[in-house]
Amino acid sequence: MVKPFVPQLAYFEPSALEYPLGQKLFEKFSDMGIEIRKTTSHNQIRDLPGENHFQKYRIAKLTLVVGIRKTLKFDTSKPSAEYAIPFATGCMGHCHYCYLQTTMGAKPYIRTYVNVDEIFDAAEDYMIERAPEITRFEASCTSDIVGVDHLTHTLKKAIEYFGKSEHGRLRFVTKFAHVDHLLDADHQGKTRFRFSINDDYVIKYFEPGTSRLKERIEAAVKVAEADYPLGFIIAPIYLHEGWKDGYHEMFERLEAALPKFARKNLTFEMIQHRFTKPAKRVIEQNYPMTKLELDESKRKWKWGRYGIGKYVYTDEEQADIKETLGGYLKKYFPEAKIEYFT
Ligand code: SF4
Repeated sequence: MVKPFVPQLAYFEPSALEYPLGQKLFEKFSDMGIEIRKTTSHNQIRDLPGENHFQKYRIAKLTLVVGIRKTLKFDTSKPSAEYAIPFATGCMGHCHYCYLQTTMGAKPYIRTYVNVDEIFDAAEDYMIERAPEITRFEASCTSDIVGVDHLTHTLKKAIEYFGKSEHGRLRFVTKFAHVDHLLDADHQGKTRFRFSINDDYVIKYFEPGTSRLKERIEAAVKVAEADYPLGFIIAPIYLHEGWKDGYHEMFERLEAALPKFARKNLTFEMIQHRFTKPAKRVIEQNYPMTKLELDESKRKWKWGRYGIGKYVYTDEEQADIKETLGGYLKKYFPEAKIEYFT
């Protein structure tokens, strides 16, 4: 069982201490005996411990930087929401395929932002712009926010903030089961709480440092009992020997555990595994022993965002995935909504 994240090292930007949450975290980490360092800005962090890239990368994932979010312009977040809301970046998990490895490059440490009210104000402006249309905000584009929230309670505050809003909705996804502090948040049904799930093979070989399927399902049941709209993201759908049985078992276990009332307003999002050449290079550097299959010759090449081509499964494989997983979904969760299959 993966324990809730505790940083080994915490950096504080001076301006973070001007905010109540910054102060609170400083006191909390001091009491916990966590090593604390000050830094003028996270960009100045050059002295992370570790002898080589491999060690530095691992220590960075145990390092939390407490700072403020300066850019309050939100990125778009298609297809799951209109905007990405930035409460944190980085993640303590070690998923071999994780795209954060490429996007965060040389700064894989975790950052949490304490100017939460300013982030809410920015969200408010986006909502006003689109009103009376609903605006959806995705809180897990740049981190697994639940993984760090037991320390900060930022997400809990956000859930309650959007609970009160008329035109805003919040959504996030996690691979962590540490959800207890979120169960009593006054969400008013305006937050969709999603879990990223996969079959045992993928979790075992490619998702070290995250909660196991059993724990994620148990957490999802608690979330359903707390009346949150619930969802699952199956990602990355990965072809390995026995994948049909693996995913079948995953659906069976989910079906056996989820209470009936949780199935009416249930969503699924499905994302097939893909990679880019730059991602492959980073993965091989960070996880040199990985079993992840990254052979371009076995894949189909497809134009991606920013002109970087990505390698996806062949048309036949994609059709097989859709038919197989679509069939399981129909069998086990006929009432659920498939939001997208990409
Ligand atoms: Fe990346 Fe999510 Fe895994 Fe964290 S839990 S390493 S964000 S894929």
